[in-house]
Amino acid sequence: MITTRILVTGGAGFIGSHYVRTLLGPDGPPDIAVTVLDNLTYAGNPANLYEVRDDRRFDFVRGDICDADLVDPLVPTHDQIVHFAAESHVDRSLLGPAAFVRTNVVGTQTLLDAALRHGLRTFVHISTDEVYGSIRAGSWPETDPLRPNSPYAATKAASDLLALAQHRTHGLDVRVTRCSNNYGPYQFPEKAVPLFITRLLDGRPVPLYGDGLHVRDWIHVDDHVRGIELVRTAGRPGEVYNIGGGNELSNHDLTALLLRECGADWGMVTHVEDRKGHDRRYSVDFSKIRDELGFAPCTDLATGIARTVHWYRTHRSWWEPLLRRAESEAA
Ligand code: NAD
Repeated sequence: MITTRILVTGGAGFIGSHYVRTLLGPDGPPDIAVTVLDNLTYAGNPANLYEVRDDRRFDFVRGDICDADLVDPLVPTHDQIVHFAAESHVDRSLLGPAAFVRTNVVGTQTLLDAALRHGLRTFVHISTDEVYGSIRAGSWPETDPLRPNSPYAATKAASDLLALAQHRTHGLDVRVTRCSNNYGPYQFPEKAVPLFITRLLDGRPVPLYGDGLHVRDWIHVDDHVRGIELVRTAGRPGEVYNIGGGNELSNHDLTALLLRECGADWGMVTHVEDRKGHDRRYSVDFSKIRDELGFAPCTDLATGIARTVHWYRTHRSWWEPLLRRAESEAA
């Protein structure tokens, strides 16, 4: 019997679709139904939801989270929202921040307004470690101040604060997750891991920003999704939970790993000018979700990257059309 109807925004994107496939997969909870709300930007892809399209517990609504006339009647037919929808690529935010403000800030507020108006049970807001800024040493606990640097991170920080404000002022059950860099299958080939893999598999060079010594913590999308489920089902209202993979690596070392898995060498790497305002290091302290909810990342980085390269090797029909479209739009 269905007891919980979940509205998943951005469920046709990389992490959101992984979440939906997991919830509706053989090990998912038996008592849930899922509606994906997604307006299918360049990053949203119906093929990501192909596996679940005939599941009677699944529904898809194509639409914009900023559209209050659409969102308002949709929310009360659900018990919970898990909110992934966002403009998510830092490089794009440097060129055109307005779309980020619209979707990430105004879109989140539109959902929060409807959630409050209709007494929604739980609102899980999916955020990022990038809201904390950059850290030289140590790791951020959830209590650290937000010092975002890119327009992407600034809009995500704004939406985190708006979500938490709705809890503090009106008691809405809002839970925020802040996760580190994800990798895995179905990631649009613009972010570092899928960009490098798809280019290397095509025998094309890959661009490495600056000195390559920027450090990120990498987490397999399976682990992120498990963390989100723990927060949705057992987290506390009004709380923030960092989620990390425990795999800190410089971009140089990540590149070395990808080169090896793709059977390429350093001759394929082009050093390019650094990204403007490029954060030097990210590191989340995820002891809270570990101690409180029993979270532990399971996928070791070398195995996860090998599996991801294998997926891209065997799913050219998924990514080749995306690359062709992106290249024709850029031309
Ligand atoms: P993505 O870009 O792959 O997917 C975003 C999805 O949102 C797409 O399906 C897109 O069509 C949809 N969308 C965008 N604007 C919309 C709008 N106005 N209305 C409805 N749908 C809209 O992003 P992702 O990498 O899967 O990230 C999902 C969430 O996780 C984001 O909130 C992001 O900030 C967060 N996050 C991502 C990472 C990462 O490494 N990718 C890490 C931490 C947190």
